[in-house]
Amino acid sequence: MQFIETRGNDGVKPSSVAFSEAILSPSASFGGLYVPETLPDFSQEFLTKHLDSNYKTLALDLLNAFEIDIEQKVLEAALSRYDAFDDPSNPVPLVSIEEDCFVSELYHGPTRAFKDMALQPFGYILGDLAEKREEHYLIMAATSGDTGPATLETFKNQSNVKVACLYPDGGTSDVQKLQMVTEDAANLKVIGVKGNFDDTQHALKELLASEDFKLELKERNIKLSAANSVNFGRIIFQIIYHIHAYLEMVRAKKIAIGEKIYLVVPSGNFGNALGGYYAKKAGLPIEKILIASNINNILTDWITSGAYDLTDRELILTESPAMDILKSSNIERVMFDKFGAARTKELMDALVSDGKYQLSPDELALLQEDFVATFSSDAEGEAVIEKYAKKGYIMDPHTATCMKAYETLRVEDLPAVIYSTAEWTKFSTTVAKSLGHAVKDDREALKWVEAHADVSVPSMITGLFDKPVKHTIVVEKEFIKGEMLNFI
Ligand SMILES: *Cc1c(COP(=O)(O)O)cnc(C)c1O
Repeated sequence: MQFIETRGNDGVKPSSVAFSEAILSPSASFGGLYVPETLPDFSQEFLTKHLDSNYKTLALDLLNAFEIDIEQKVLEAALSRYDAFDDPSNPVPLVSIEEDCFVSELYHGPTRAFKDMALQPFGYILGDLAEKREEHYLIMAATSGDTGPATLETFKNQSNVKVACLYPDGGTSDVQKLQMVTEDAANLKVIGVKGNFDDTQHALKELLASEDFKLELKERNIKLSAANSVNFGRIIFQIIYHIHAYLEMVRAKKIAIGEKIYLVVPSGNFGNALGGYYAKKAGLPIEKILIASNINNILTDWITSGAYDLTDRELILTESPAMDILKSSNIERVMFDKFGAARTKELMDALVSDGKYQLSPDELALLQEDFVATFSSDAEGEAVIEKYAKKGYIMDPHTATCMKAYETLRVEDLPAVIYSTAEWTKFSTTVAKSLGHAVKDDREALKWVEAHADVSVPSMITGLFDKPVKHTIVVEKEFIKGEMLNFI
């Protein structure tokens, strides 16, 4: 299958590319993104066939349905990365927390956030392609806390890929920071930036746009790629677990194949939700996708009113930092799918020139065929964490934003799957606070929650506090380039 461009073609880049090309160079014409030309069929027949499959078998069949130009044995090796998850036979367990509400726990991988679901196999495939082509890649990531550790982890010790990760100093949890600064491999570089996540991301964008930096890379024969969810190589792995969650509900006899369910997705860059959207379009019986946000609720506005307006907004730091996002990249892929390339380009251009755009009433109606949305404040999230802790289930603050969406947005009396995108251990200070106990740092919070709830902290988290720190650099924005040049 070929991959096409969301903003149309500029006459310079090819108008369609193979999967390998789309993941190595994920930027399409006019700054657009790559999307699959068509979608396979994942309805009744596919679901029935996989009722007794395990996760990897389902995943392999799904990847093959996209007819991507990656060898079978490479796909198999990539998927075998799920063998290192807590339960290799089921890397994504489904847990019931209400009669008709199920949590799909996407965080049982090495860095305890759902980013591992896609980045683990994706990293293997990208590394393999680079090696076979004898090309060298640099991946730079600005992280608010979860992408960084997962990107470092998937690429560590790969021969032809270097990763540089920028994080806002003081803007991540202690655990997230330790996950990055204790990573020990020659191909990894971690730099703390003085400022918030917006500053960090801005610094990265400036660097990526700077001509002399590009020249330096060229002289060293290094190409740039990206590992965030603008890369379709991540999205493809995020379709699988929606289908898996549905099948798990069937296996648990909560639904029969063909019956509809709701999906509830705590959203930021919209990669997770986009995976659900593609699954729905490919025939998975989904009534609606419920989009949960925190008070950076630009997605709520977009879905309820069709307005996407950055002009009256400043990023607000919340207790669910992975959702502290104002420019949500993957909604572009939804707009391309619904409104076409010309209109998508027009809207995305307006966002640059005017800082905003407004969908027409017809366009909004199309959007609302698939999505509804709401948002939660930190206080509402804390109340949710406390409520479910009392029932014996500990969830992280991102997952907690789903509960208001679940309670207020369902119209039909259908069961729902909510996605748990991080283990509580990454945000233990907020969890302890929600349970009425103020602590000074994550180390204390982890101990306190473990002692007061029926949960344990996995070894990859406890071990962090004793691992030697390998990356100590914290710089002002203007010194990032120098650090990068040193590194490459
Ligand atoms: C990345 C992340 C999200 C947001 O996911 P998107 O695919 O960007 O919408 C939500 N929760 C956690 C914990 C995350 O790490």
